[in-house]
Amino acid sequence: MTTQTDYLRDRLQGMIERGEVWNLRQLETPTNPHVTVDGHEVTMLTANNYLDLANDQRLKTAAKEAIDAYGHGTGSVWAIAGYMEIQEQLNQAIAEFKGTEAGLAYQTGFGANAGLLPQLLDEGDVFISDELNHGSIIDGMRLSSADTVIYDHADMASLEEALESVHEEYERMLIVTDGVFSMDGDIAPLDEIQKLAEEYGAMTYVDDAHGEGVLGGGHGTVAEFDLDGAIDFQTGTFSKAMGSFGGMLAADEHVVEYAYNTSRTWLLSAGFPPAVAAANIKALEIVEEETERVEYLWELREYFVSELESMGFDTGNSETPIVPVMVGDSRVAQTFADRLFEEGIFALAIVYPMVARGKARIRNQLNAGLTEDDLNEALRVYETVGRDLDII
Ligand SMILES: *Cc1c(COP(=O)(O)O)cnc(C)c1O
Repeated sequence: MTTQTDYLRDRLQGMIERGEVWNLRQLETPTNPHVTVDGHEVTMLTANNYLDLANDQRLKTAAKEAIDAYGHGTGSVWAIAGYMEIQEQLNQAIAEFKGTEAGLAYQTGFGANAGLLPQLLDEGDVFISDELNHGSIIDGMRLSSADTVIYDHADMASLEEALESVHEEYERMLIVTDGVFSMDGDIAPLDEIQKLAEEYGAMTYVDDAHGEGVLGGGHGTVAEFDLDGAIDFQTGTFSKAMGSFGGMLAADEHVVEYAYNTSRTWLLSAGFPPAVAAANIKALEIVEEETERVEYLWELREYFVSELESMGFDTGNSETPIVPVMVGDSRVAQTFADRLFEEGIFALAIVYPMVARGKARIRNQLNAGLTEDDLNEALRVYETVGRDLDII
């Protein structure tokens, strides 16, 4: 029997043959530095849980107390009847943490970009976007009637060329960039971006999902470059270093008020549970106070990178606790990741179409809950598998 959806079966079959489908793995423990996945005990090097807060007792207690105080669901979108006192506290905490006039939680980081970007520009305006920006940024720009110009990744000559070519033709220009890029672990040169923005009269938008909790003593990429007050729009997430869930916007008061009155993702989707708001507030407090967590994360990162490099691995453009090990061929990368997994190391093979053909890699993401012994064990496995597969 055929059905009208058979074309999807054919498409999926093609994806399976090209190795482009996810093999969903079951996480059988909380997301800790050491976890059980599909029955294997492994060291987690592929979670975004940089500061090891996802299973932190203080976040869990804050969430439980909020359930008792506020219930579980919000019963509504935030705009109509779901906006609770704890949500207001979170918005203020975001502003304080980011050093902006105002803050706003979104349901997700994806929703912040996909909902806000389409509201910022109109026909006759232009987004100027880094070629490696996150998919939520790409979707947000696509939902706008403004044009989009792409510049070469983190390439300031290319950005300047783009600005030069559009600045007379368009009314408003908005440069959009990730703060930290998740595939390579490199950092956007925000100081230079900001300088060019000023020179050409463009606005700036930074999505700092992988920068918060990691750069700028934990406050993010904007703080790292001392650009507080200079960036027009900052978005981010609580789902990575903060160990929780939800998106955020930090900006001027009028921008935040405009944002929640226009972002369809914010307006037409329920507010997340108050337990999430409480955990997010706690996470911001911890990042603010426990700067040693961030410092330790960086120590681990420096050690891991220098040991990998001295073994002969290429860590690509890594500048952060995202540490790729460049492999090249997609199938070799997949085999590499499978071997690592068998030996107790859970790291992700990143292959085409996530990165260009021939640029396949294993991506490692460090976590402040790991010890130097954990890394030594991971490095031992890397050396063995790297030799077996002729990478080093
Ligand atoms: C992870 C990520 C997001 C999505 O954040 P969520 O809160 O998980 O939806 C958005 N932008 C970038 C750059 C990201 O890395």
